[in-house]
Amino acid sequence: MDQLDHATRDDRRAAAEALLPELEDAGVVGVALPWVDTSGITRVKTVPLAKLPSAAAWGVGMSPVFDGFLLDDSIVAGRFAGSAIGDLRLHPDLSRLTVLAGQPGWAWAPVDRYTQAGVPHVQCSRSLLRRLVSSLAEEGYEVRGAYEVEWVVGRPDGLPDDPDAFVPALTGPAYGMTRLAEVSDYGRDLLVALEEQGVAVDQFHPEYAGGQLEISVGAQDPVGAADTALLVRNTITAISAQHGLRVSFSPKVTADGVGNGGHVHLSLWRDGENLMSGGDGTFGLTAEGEGFTAGLLAHLPGLLAVGAPSVASYLRLVPSHWAGAFAAWGLENREAALRFVTGPDGNRQHAANVEIKSVDLAANPYLLMAGCLAAGLAGVRAGSRLPDPVGVDPASLSDEGRREAGIRPLPASLEDAVRAFESDEVLTAAFGEELAATVADVRRGEIALFEGVSPEGICRAVRWRH
Ligand code: GLU
Ligand code: MG
Repeated sequence: MDQLDHATRDDRRAAAEALLPELEDAGVVGVALPWVDTSGITRVKTVPLAKLPSAAAWGVGMSPVFDGFLLDDSIVAGRFAGSAIGDLRLHPDLSRLTVLAGQPGWAWAPVDRYTQAGVPHVQCSRSLLRRLVSSLAEEGYEVRGAYEVEWVVGRPDGLPDDPDAFVPALTGPAYGMTRLAEVSDYGRDLLVALEEQGVAVDQFHPEYAGGQLEISVGAQDPVGAADTALLVRNTITAISAQHGLRVSFSPKVTADGVGNGGHVHLSLWRDGENLMSGGDGTFGLTAEGEGFTAGLLAHLPGLLAVGAPSVASYLRLVPSHWAGAFAAWGLENREAALRFVTGPDGNRQHAANVEIKSVDLAANPYLLMAGCLAAGLAGVRAGSRLPDPVGVDPASLSDEGRREAGIRPLPASLEDAVRAFESDEVLTAAFGEELAATVADVRRGEIALFEGVSPEGICRAVRWRH
């Protein structure tokens, strides 16, 4: 698929040339070409505006070594990643080209990574996600999804003797109107910038932890949802810098307290109908909607190696912190890994979806979405059924009570999650041998990096990286 032949390259060049006058009028001088590596860090190259047509046609060179990068920029010698030999081409997706409202003079277009022979790189997460969307479409299904973004804002200079310390820049209470008043101008600038960039914001609110805020956006196609997650975070970072704030999306900013989640909302559709609603199953699920949800639940342990990909993720993923530490599902249950949402009566056909709570923003959003689609589709194909829903905090049950209710704890460490991933034939087959090996190798590289480091030391090392 997607072989870049001469005709395709000419079309891409022409499409970029057609965009130039409008971009010049908008004051754009440079175009950022971001993509996300295996460890969840967004890497970038940029071109001056005049080079956009050539970048569209031929791509921009970038080494495959980044597949083996860790979050501290050290490089793992993986089985299929980490070598400095060879080159890839970054091809901007012009349909997602956006003038960045928070970075005057810049536009942005997420890229697919291709080989020099013009085929998608086997470890390109965005290309993988596009392939999985096509597989679903071939069977008549469409998925709509969205990422929630939680972050904290800190003082830019930390503490006098520790500039990298996290000192919340806001003092108001959780969900507090006074906290909103503190970020009034900042919040306005953020909403204006997102609106100018065509991001459909659903909500913006102060969250629970010190200095924590959250934005949720409308559901889109899976690739669009992952692109939007990147764009929202980039916008938050840019607007925060303008306001003299330092921003952290880390799963666990400080060793105690509640972390930052990156919950994913998903719904399965066919012929314009939302299959999470209007059926005969529990809470109105259709058989296919139930199969999709059951597939997610069954593959959650392995999915965590992708969706909770950092050693820091497991400092967040603990019981009774709204992070979903147990493999269970329940209606509006914020302690279940899968929170089923029906929406209000009368709006269910539009609103019903399942939220995966256990995942965080250290994840590569393309890779995580790809894992979700593979897991969900496997459940649909197998006609999988869900266990009984759980209506309590699973942590409030005894071990025996949880066993009786069929509730399993999720992996409590990155090593356990990697092992679950490696033995998950659905996920590893969907990712392919090379990418599956790289996911495991990069995770084990991070485990080795933090061997013997205290929780506070881990939080500190991860805090300002994503
Ligand atoms: N901050 C919580 C987390 O780590 C989620 C809070 C909520 O939105 O329920 O996922
Ligand atoms: Mg939240």
